[in-house]
Amino acid sequence: MKPAGAALQTLRPFLDGVFTDPARDEWLQVQEPACGRPWARIPRGSEEDVRRAAAGARRAFEEGWGRTAPGERADLLDQAAAALEARSEEFARCESRDTGKPLRLARELDIPRAVANLRFFAGALRHDETPCHESAGVLNYTSRRPLGPVALITPWNLPLYLLTWKLAPALAMGNTVVAKPSEWTPGTATLLAGLLAEILPPGVFQMVHGLGETAGRALVRDPDIRAVSFTGGTATGAEVARSAAPAFKKLSLELGGKNPTLVFADADLEEAAAGAVRAAFTNQGQICLCGSRILVEASVLKPFREALVERVRALRLGDPADPATDLGALISAEHRDRVESYLALAREEGGRFLTGGGRPPMPEPLAGGYWLEPALVEGLPAASRCATEEIFGPVASLHPFRDEAEALRLANGVRYGLCASVWTRDLDRAHRLGHDLEAGMVWVNTWLLRDLRTPFGGVKDSGLGREGGRWSLEFFSEARNLCIRYCAGDVPAAQPSRPT
Ligand code: NAD
Repeated sequence: MKPAGAALQTLRPFLDGVFTDPARDEWLQVQEPACGRPWARIPRGSEEDVRRAAAGARRAFEEGWGRTAPGERADLLDQAAAALEARSEEFARCESRDTGKPLRLARELDIPRAVANLRFFAGALRHDETPCHESAGVLNYTSRRPLGPVALITPWNLPLYLLTWKLAPALAMGNTVVAKPSEWTPGTATLLAGLLAEILPPGVFQMVHGLGETAGRALVRDPDIRAVSFTGGTATGAEVARSAAPAFKKLSLELGGKNPTLVFADADLEEAAAGAVRAAFTNQGQICLCGSRILVEASVLKPFREALVERVRALRLGDPADPATDLGALISAEHRDRVESYLALAREEGGRFLTGGGRPPMPEPLAGGYWLEPALVEGLPAASRCATEEIFGPVASLHPFRDEAEALRLANGVRYGLCASVWTRDLDRAHRLGHDLEAGMVWVNTWLLRDLRTPFGGVKDSGLGREGGRWSLEFFSEARNLCIRYCAGDVPAAQPSRPT
């Protein structure tokens, strides 16, 4: 933790291979959420910085990155993965300081996953295939071409994890990139830029800092940007879609969630309670995939509730650097205020707090941080705002259901549809729900178990498009068809109405 009064680090845009002064001398402070002290400053962000970044990315694309051999790009991604892995501890410490999350989580989840993202897409590129459709005397083959410069806009909850999730397939497919990390968590993206400076040609990875309404908005609108991969809130996603539409930019939107955890009486209830608590409170409940609605079969409500409360009370809040810490701080004072306004609303809406919801007393130097006890609430009507809106903090509501049909109705009864987790030993039920739940991803007897080859994304207001495995490779490229007639004797030169 930074001592009070120590000088702030200055984080600059990374343009054309070097850290560069921003166009305007306007700065934002970045706080350390665990103690509330500023540790860095970043540019406020401007259209000029974005213009420069996008134009540089266009130049790098045209000067050759788009034509490099796939094997060469895969090797560079592997080099980046190895370099990141070698500096894992430094990146984990930076991520924990910037987000307030436990260092243990950054060490075990964020940074290893960032390494895996780079490595996975190096491998995916090496094994990538495109189809060829043959018929008598005619060959149709598909080629995939890069799009050009693409924008990667990412949130503060899993900063490096999500940036590399987009960066690796974007580079793999031969695009150049302009990244805009969240203004709340610019640290690891800046470290990554320094690391990539040694590996990639100048301009292939550009990074601008700044606010969404300055740098983010200008980036989506920039004429050189051909696609936008955005992860963030649903309202922001709608604005990004409006800005991108007039120029027909390709869009991938990974947005919010209000995900259900469904627990049936036939489940292993101890495992289900552990899974539900992990799903609700990992990263202080600040993961889009968090299971913030816990739906439980009424016949086991009582023992399940007890098991839940006991586990939530056992979660240890504390110094993110302490390996015994389970939960860190929320990202900012503003965000904690927002979460607390939902806690007040929950009381008005008839919610009863089974545990948590207060600000815990913390010792110095943590007293100025953005702490909140994990809260478990029951009694909220299914249609109440607290049970249907994304809170994105350590708050989960508990709702009983009578049978599978009611569980399904409750689970699907919100505007979001990102993921669900179902706890049951009944295989038929698992398949039925897997089919009928309105969610992009359904987990059975687990949560957040990821295989990077699988499609990732939401339905309804949780997003548009899929990333992961070949879906990412498809998003970051344009499929084109080449039709060759090679047997002129047998095949007429034109047969417009006769499909194969
Ligand atoms: P946010 O929407 O406020 O910001 C996300 C990013 O968009 C930031 O970099 C921000 O600066 C930028 N931005 C803001 N306004 C913009 C604009 N008008 N144009 C372009 N860019 C703009 O989200 P957040 O508070 O950083 O993150 C929390 C949200 O992200 C939650 O809703 C969460 O569910 C969602 N999220 C979704 C996923 C997913 O995969 N579906 C993953 C993580 C987080």
